[in-house]
Amino acid sequence: MEKIQTLVVGAGISGLSTAFFLQQRGQRVAVLEASGRAGGNIQTLMYEGFMLEAGPNTLLDNDPAIAALIDGLGLRAEVREANSEAKRRYVVRNGQAVQLPGSPPAFLSTTLFSPAAKFRLLAEPFIGRAQIEESVADFVRRRLGQEFLDWAIDPFVSGVYAGDPARLSVQAATPKVYALERDHGSLLVGALKKAFKARKTEVQTTPVGHMFSFDRGLGQLVDALAERLGDALHLHATVQGLQHTHDGWQVNTSQGAFVAQNVVLAVPAEVCAALLEPFLGVRVQPLREIPYPPVMSVALGFRREDVAHALDGFGVLIPAKERVTTLGALFSSTLFPGRAPDGQVLLTVFIGGRRHEDVGTWTDEAIVARVLADLGPILGLRAAPLMSHVQHWPRAIPQYELGHFERMAALDEAMQHLQGLRMRANWRDGVSVSDAIRNGLVLATALQELQAQML
Ligand SMILES: Cc1cc2nc3c(=O)[nH]c(=O)nc-3n(C[C@H](O)[C@H](O)[C@H](O)COP(=O)(O)OP(=O)(O)OC[C@H]3O[C@@H](n4cnc5c(N)ncnc54)[C@H](O)[C@@H]3O)c2cc1C
Repeated sequence: MEKIQTLVVGAGISGLSTAFFLQQRGQRVAVLEASGRAGGNIQTLMYEGFMLEAGPNTLLDNDPAIAALIDGLGLRAEVREANSEAKRRYVVRNGQAVQLPGSPPAFLSTTLFSPAAKFRLLAEPFIGRAQIEESVADFVRRRLGQEFLDWAIDPFVSGVYAGDPARLSVQAATPKVYALERDHGSLLVGALKKAFKARKTEVQTTPVGHMFSFDRGLGQLVDALAERLGDALHLHATVQGLQHTHDGWQVNTSQGAFVAQNVVLAVPAEVCAALLEPFLGVRVQPLREIPYPPVMSVALGFRREDVAHALDGFGVLIPAKERVTTLGALFSSTLFPGRAPDGQVLLTVFIGGRRHEDVGTWTDEAIVARVLADLGPILGLRAAPLMSHVQHWPRAIPQYELGHFERMAALDEAMQHLQGLRMRANWRDGVSVSDAIRNGLVLATALQELQAQML
């Protein structure tokens, strides 16, 4: 039997895409997954006639790696772009869903921000750069003012991280926003320059930043990856320990031992910490310091006439200032028509996160009751849902809080002597599915180059 070159531990999207890109480059790989299915957080379910996403709902086409994966898997014809209505987004202020302005005239007329907050924006280009690491909240308050933090950035941070802007590091959690200050000295000037440049190059590049899924949901991507891996994917293979050998690594699993030259740990931070502790001792601590608050994803199906809101957009986000437990809701059957039976609509609601970690201990009944009470007046819910489904993610999304980069640097230093061992999961370099795919391609390319140098 030919020797495996790289063992990937974890069949979430990080591990699957790393393995796919390695295989595409001619490497012999094997993927070891503890559970009985591939996909990790990605899970599409058919339930009572609805197509539900238990984890992520959309993918962003913002990097060439995404197209490389889709085309490499032959999935192009299955891509389903989000409905164009999804460009409209709502934010709740004073109990009302207010449309987030999408253009300068809409910004001038919106009731989401006061005239003083709008005027305050004019000062932004004249504010200097920060000299220390700041939280997202401090950064936004300093550059754009309190109202932008409360009614735009806070709900955005909820939507991506289910996080707390007062604790997230602006450099680590929102690197593109931070880079506008670092590179251009101003968010407004930087954003304008980028928009101008994008317009100039539009003809030469493929469109980026489109939101999409697949005909059979994000699960279709996972299924295609699993199918491509075939026998190289080992389910129910929980990795229990690692041993450094003279020419690589031995990985001990519930299905026996595997050996390879390289190992990629594509597993949550606490699993990496447990596997690395025998080598690093207390130096695994940075991994254990990454908070993972719980998030519950609640799917609700209603008769169309039982929801007063037009549901003509991506969804609605609820800022912390509104003092409501629910974080927000996606209008899933608007986003991707056909996911609810005829005459019915599907909402995907998120609750929990860094601010409401206690919700992780609630019963499903209590969670659904809270969500209905919170959303009822905002969306005009007139009757009980026909369908409800609660998915618990007890350790949902890693938080890149203040000190994240320092923790990662300490970890990298501690790992230096562990040749052939890499880590590649969502607890660094981005939490989105697109980040995982991009990072998978970067790592596969680096490992391949290393291999070529050694020949
Ligand atoms: C509710 C929710 C909504 C989200 N919404 C979006 C969204 O709309 N868009 C977006 O881009 N992102 C979204 N995200 C984020 C995104 O889904 C995740 O960051 C991404 O899927 C994580 O992939 P991963 O492979 O790094 O980790 P995971 O998906 O956690 O995969 C890790 C894998 O490792 C396995 N494993 C663990 N321990 C072992 C072991 N000892 N041995 C072997 N295998 C092991 C696990 O079983 C799992 O399969 C969302 C996340 C959640 C939770």
